[in-house]
Amino acid sequence: MQATDKFTHDDYTVAWIAPLEVESIAARLMLDTKHEKLPQSSVDHNVYTLGSINSHNIVIASLPSTGNTSAATVITQLRNTFKQIRFGLLVGIGGGVPTRTDNGPIHLGDVVVSKPQRDHSGAIQYDHGKALEGRFLCTGYLTPPPTVLLNAAQDLSTEQAITEDDLVLPHLQKINTRLPALRKYKYPGQDQDHLYKADYSHRTEGSSCRSCACDPLQRIDRYSYESEDDEIYYDRSSRIVVHRGTIAAGERVIRDSRLRDELAKAHGALCFEMEAAGVMNDFPCLVVRGISDYADSHKNDRWHGYAAASAAAYARQLFFHMPVDEVKQCAVGLAGIYS
Ligand SMILES: [Zn+2]
Repeated sequence: MQATDKFTHDDYTVAWIAPLEVESIAARLMLDTKHEKLPQSSVDHNVYTLGSINSHNIVIASLPSTGNTSAATVITQLRNTFKQIRFGLLVGIGGGVPTRTDNGPIHLGDVVVSKPQRDHSGAIQYDHGKALEGRFLCTGYLTPPPTVLLNAAQDLSTEQAITEDDLVLPHLQKINTRLPALRKYKYPGQDQDHLYKADYSHRTEGSSCRSCACDPLQRIDRYSYESEDDEIYYDRSSRIVVHRGTIAAGERVIRDSRLRDELAKAHGALCFEMEAAGVMNDFPCLVVRGISDYADSHKNDRWHGYAAASAAAYARQLFFHMPVDEVKQCAVGLAGIYS
């Protein structure tokens, strides 16, 4: 596209929802081209960045604050302003479950992507349900992504499996981590990936594991024991490992390893996050989460930047697996047809 090309609201077909600042900066840096801003009504308070990746015109929307209410409001406003939006990518950070998938153990900096399972859309609202005869039934099954998006995720997954060079990792070079403001997006290194035993709690709330002297002997050295007999162990500095499965969305931050493990077991979840529920109830979305912590009491911000970057890099690569025409042919306003 030439810089002189003028776009209108109706030229944009994909929404990239990046709630936190650390996420929206990573999203912006993944664009091929940034477009000029378009007018928006005085009742639309969203912050938009417009641009394109591989000829797909994309609206990046940031939320004023985290939480389901604001995410839902942002989507409503976005769809009023950009009426041709077909679907959304919800891209950001999340708390990982230290379990394993077909692609090996889940580590910090890996990416988890929602994948529909037999009985649900790949994203569940775990705190929306009812107790029935002593059992808790989860009733919050969120709207699944459209076929074109699922096919893209599948195609990317297959390509990754049969390609020696990682397809996602090179996109991180679009973030110039030599700039002071972007340093936080650098890979922290696997020696900074600390998983503590589930029964060992963080020593002092509000301070880091190092300053409150959480015992390093209580960490699980997953890299050494898992790599010994693990044929699919990857060096995280040369590959972004992607896991596809169930993402659990809820209204509170999980920072408790026992609750994490309980909920993960009950729902088969790989990851926890806080935005999908509000967004996906009536809007088809793929949820993409970079793992920034293990949803336990030791949770901190150390990996936020890199996890946001790896999720954004995955989202960028998806646009190379989606035909532009097929995206345009998706029905507008899919809400409700899956329910
Ligand atoms: Zn700690």
